[in-house]
Amino acid sequence: MITHRPSSELILGYAAGSLAEPAALVVAAHAALCPETAAEIRRLEGLGGSLLGTLDPASLRADALERTLAMLDQDAAAAPDIAAVTAETRALLPSPVWPYVKGDLRHLEWRRRGPQIETAALIGDGKAQRAFLLRVKGGHAVPRHTHRGTELTLVLQGAFCDAANCFAPGDIQVADPTIDHQPVAQRGKDCICLVALEAPIWFTGPIGRLANHFVKL
Ligand code: ZN
Repeated sequence: MITHRPSSELILGYAAGSLAEPAALVVAAHAALCPETAAEIRRLEGLGGSLLGTLDPASLRADALERTLAMLDQDAAAAPDIAAVTAETRALLPSPVWPYVKGDLRHLEWRRRGPQIETAALIGDGKAQRAFLLRVKGGHAVPRHTHRGTELTLVLQGAFCDAANCFAPGDIQVADPTIDHQPVAQRGKDCICLVALEAPIWFTGPIGRLANHFVKL
């Protein structure tokens, strides 16, 4: 059962189209697993649509229709052929993530970040705002850290806990610079999460503090 949902502010930002792509991807992926969030997004988008309907047509740019159609074309180009999405991909990833792996988990490039931690970039490798998959071996921890922006973490497989809460598949954790935590993957299955970061995290443990100079996560 999903017990940790995004804040109303985040859902509103998503419905209004104002979130950066990494954060929007995590909210969309969560909504694909959480009927309650999906219903709230539909309600807000409906409200937005009825507001648009009251706008004076003259306030739209003359090329608005062409621009919208061009954007739709781009989306169609990015989305993989549904029939080509592999069973492994469907089993692990919610549908909004499929285009980012071209429908096949074999397109992921896993990089080792520590003895028990791997990441695979989805958006913006090397940039400040990023989305990636995080895989932590069951029973192991992500080094203690705080945040220099918002960190959104959606659990896809396994589970993790920090000192405050536990998160299971479909749950989303929203962390920010006020939170210093050490997420620990539950024993058993690897914990796989979809993560969006606004800025690299900042390690705060005794060894991690040194690692800040060498490792960016
Ligand atoms: Zn964190």
